[in-house]
Amino acid sequence: MTTLQERLDAGDVLIIDGAMGTELERRGAEMDGAAWAGTAMKSQPEMNGAIHRDFIEAGADIIIANTYASAPHVLRHAGVDESEARELNRLGCAIAHEAVRVSAADREVYVAGSLSSFRAGLHLDTLPSEAEGRASYRAQAEALAEGGCDLLIAEMMLDPVISPWAIEAAVATGLPVWIGLSARVTDGRVMGFHQYADDPFETVLDACLAFGGQAAGIMHSDIDVMAPALAALKARWDGPLFAYPHSGHFEMPHWRFDCVITPEDYVTKARGYLGMGAQAVGGCCGLGPEHIRLLKQKLPTRGTAK
Ligand SMILES: [Zn+2]
Repeated sequence: MTTLQERLDAGDVLIIDGAMGTELERRGAEMDGAAWAGTAMKSQPEMNGAIHRDFIEAGADIIIANTYASAPHVLRHAGVDESEARELNRLGCAIAHEAVRVSAADREVYVAGSLSSFRAGLHLDTLPSEAEGRASYRAQAEALAEGGCDLLIAEMMLDPVISPWAIEAAVATGLPVWIGLSARVTDGRVMGFHQYADDPFETVLDACLAFGGQAAGIMHSDIDVMAPALAALKARWDGPLFAYPHSGHFEMPHWRFDCVITPEDYVTKARGYLGMGAQAVGGCCGLGPEHIRLLKQKLPTRGTAK
């Protein structure tokens, strides 16, 4: 078995999957009002697995289990207690592993567990206290490790206070950790993606990169923001880089797909990320199997980084 670190060291370009949550929505799944896709491994296990298989068959080297919105402090608002929350996280990993077993018998596909800054119902009043947040991320990270993940991805790291709790918990498992940062541009300045305070992106980076990690990247950010955000990240991070922006926009309570970039145009953008040194690219919200398939077909298998 070739490890992810060996693939990175060899300079291979790795393809990350596309979105799970918005793809569930696109296929008609009913989303939870508080936890969005966070309970779909139980309510929609077949669709969850089918999406993983579609991404693997499209060429993804890394698939991300559907645990983005499944931290215990989020699921609590959906009526799920901590023990069931751990069970759901393990189930999300099991569905991803089963998809690999079925669809990637002849090649290495890595399963990532996701922890994120998602807040229940997207309400500010569902932000956890420090004690609850730290305990919740620890419990989720342990469940993802028990679920046999090859790596953990901290997604939508967007602020200097809560996001680092998720990263610290992920790193404590001893698994490889990828740090996925989200940015916006306001008045020409790159800022952390969150809306409840204006933190310069550099402040978010300093807080989120303090724990180390195997790779860091920009994800769940507008395509227009990717270049300045990657440049800011590169100024503070020497390790491998990844990139998976979103396309379209969120309009409570659903993702709008009417202005999603075409797969052809997205390949051009992704070449730009490789040119900036990214070694792994994929898609976040709005980007589906057709985007990933064209990345796999069109991008070089070796990068320019390192
Ligand atoms: Zn996203």
